[in-house]
Amino acid sequence: MFAKILIANRGEIACRVIRTARRLGIRTVAVYSDADAGSLHVTLADEALRIGPAPARESYLCPELILDAAKRSGAQAIHPGYGFLSENADFAETCTNAGWVFIGPPTAAIRAMGSKSAAKQIMEEAVVPLVPGYHGEDQDPDLLRAAADRIGYPVLIKASAGGGGKGMRVVWETAAFDDALAGAKREALSGFDDDRILLEKYLTRPRHVEIQVFADAHGNVIHLFERDCSIQRRHQKVLEEAPAPGMSAELRSRMGAAAVAAARAIGYVGAGTVEFLLDEDGSFFFMEMNTRLQVEHPVTEMITGQDLVEWQLRVAFGEQLPCSQEQLAINGHAIEVRIYAEDPQRDFLPSIGTLKHLRTPLENTHVRIDTGVRAGDEVSIHYDPMIAKLIVWDTDRSGALRRLAAALGDYQVVGVTTNIEFLASLASHPAFAAADLDTGFIERHRTVLFPETRPASDQQLALASLYVLLKRSREAQQAALLSIDPWSPWHQTNGWRMNGDNHHQLLFRDADLDLSITAHYRPDGYLLELPGGSLKVRGTLDDNGDLLADLDGSRCKATVVRHGEDLVIVIQGRSHRLTLFDPLAHVNEQEVAGGRLTAPMPGKIVAVLVAPGEQIVKGTPLMIMEAMKMEHTIAAPRDGVVESIHFSVGSVVSEGAELLAFAIEEAEG
Ligand code: ADP
Repeated sequence: MFAKILIANRGEIACRVIRTARRLGIRTVAVYSDADAGSLHVTLADEALRIGPAPARESYLCPELILDAAKRSGAQAIHPGYGFLSENADFAETCTNAGWVFIGPPTAAIRAMGSKSAAKQIMEEAVVPLVPGYHGEDQDPDLLRAAADRIGYPVLIKASAGGGGKGMRVVWETAAFDDALAGAKREALSGFDDDRILLEKYLTRPRHVEIQVFADAHGNVIHLFERDCSIQRRHQKVLEEAPAPGMSAELRSRMGAAAVAAARAIGYVGAGTVEFLLDEDGSFFFMEMNTRLQVEHPVTEMITGQDLVEWQLRVAFGEQLPCSQEQLAINGHAIEVRIYAEDPQRDFLPSIGTLKHLRTPLENTHVRIDTGVRAGDEVSIHYDPMIAKLIVWDTDRSGALRRLAAALGDYQVVGVTTNIEFLASLASHPAFAAADLDTGFIERHRTVLFPETRPASDQQLALASLYVLLKRSREAQQAALLSIDPWSPWHQTNGWRMNGDNHHQLLFRDADLDLSITAHYRPDGYLLELPGGSLKVRGTLDDNGDLLADLDGSRCKATVVRHGEDLVIVIQGRSHRLTLFDPLAHVNEQEVAGGRLTAPMPGKIVAVLVAPGEQIVKGTPLMIMEAMKMEHTIAAPRDGVVESIHFSVGSVVSEGAELLAFAIEEAEG
């Protein structure tokens, strides 16, 4: 086996390859761009080499830089992962010619499948069924329109060099053909430097079912069953499962045989995927072959008990396939969802930012997480915004679905918008549970899957209020411990008043809505006046922000993540953001004990309202800061004297910076 391999990739897939390599005792070399210097794959690998600046074109997509790193590291083989250079035949060829083993198929096989049109010609000869269509060399528009008319509408125009759904157009009638053709060609040219297109009959309710194939250099070719990837948005996969629901053994073996024939036809070696469209009547058609490990390979691993990266390494080293077709069997059901930093409400626009809080479900035989990020990492504009793949397994599909719902409920991400709630509504949709699948699923169920953004519920408001109240009472207790008079009634935050009602007002902003919640102190908790009525609440809060609450007798668990004045309340995988308005919230009681006042968040000083030596009373505004386009007033927490001011108007302050020193006037008597 190889002693050392280089992984020409980043993120989740680099970590995935490292995991198997480590188990097999193979040393790993990671490569990284400047944006990834501190990322997980760099930390996990035995060695890591910088290859260039953040943009992929100047780092991960540069064959010379990768090969230079391979030379420096002394690695024997290069694993390309998926994406980046994984299906670049020139890169594979250069690797091989320069003496490295490319952990992937032979160059000729990558080339043969690189063009969808050429691939179809080969498949036609191998008698693999094709969707009726046109994939000839002649690209004359009149000829293409005539071909479309012959195929019959609807027709799909596809870029021959395509991928990622780019350059695809559905045409419903002959009159619309010319415009659609021009559009598809433009997109293909800008995306792939190649404007050749092909035509296919557009199936209106197909499923995407693909077969995992594997071949070694000794002439053995087998398949590891199928994956159903019908749940797609903009023709891109969102959720994948194995086996495909409702698949008969007979259809499985016919599709498997077709995929094996496809692999044989191009002298394939290594891991590959043959993608088919499966029509409602059970007929299936070759779409394309992906000559690499797929993002969704874990579902196949979960149902077969095999490690496909290990298979890749063994085959690349020249070994025989680890097992025969007869030795493989399907065990249970697996589902994978791709957790993305993106906003489903805004057409799945990537969401960029820092993962301020990240907590994942526990991994076990039922739950697997393949990821390349940790809390504190950045989702940048430079790379794919996938956070993780969550894979669940159980003995049957309904069990796997239950596991999926539970695991999504335990997945907490704060800092970027994610598709977690969208995936949860997908997983709980009755039509999905009934396996009524086809590639139009998401579009068809749009209204249910993309619910309107709702204002905070009373439950969310109650939990946010309880969090603030518990946090405050804890801080007051800590301040009391540090104070010269721990028993002073001034440290209490139980709302005790000598006269009058013991209550407190909490002000929140929820999107554009200002909300005021009155909290009445009760011996065993609080009575909250919420928009929907009053609620008795109590609970405990730990250091991680985990809140165990009792809301009018019903127990509920939530996590509250605080960043500046923003509170994100996470309950069962659903997050809601509220902004807290409270002059006292700027004041950490602990700091007050020492007479310090610090910036609650990064921002700019826009006004200094007091001068050193000035005598002030509790509540006097001292400074005004601007942060996140809003003004925040820093008020005096007690009566006292300003000792010194540390910043002037216009200064930019970082979170936690001491703004001014303040001497507390001890209450007399
Ligand atoms: P890309 O390589 O750009 O991802 P594919 O050829 O793999 O494009 O197709 C992506 C998706 O587009 C398929 O999974 C399927 O949902 C849809 N699609 C492709 N061809 C057809 C077709 N002939 N009829 C209906 N849908 C299709």
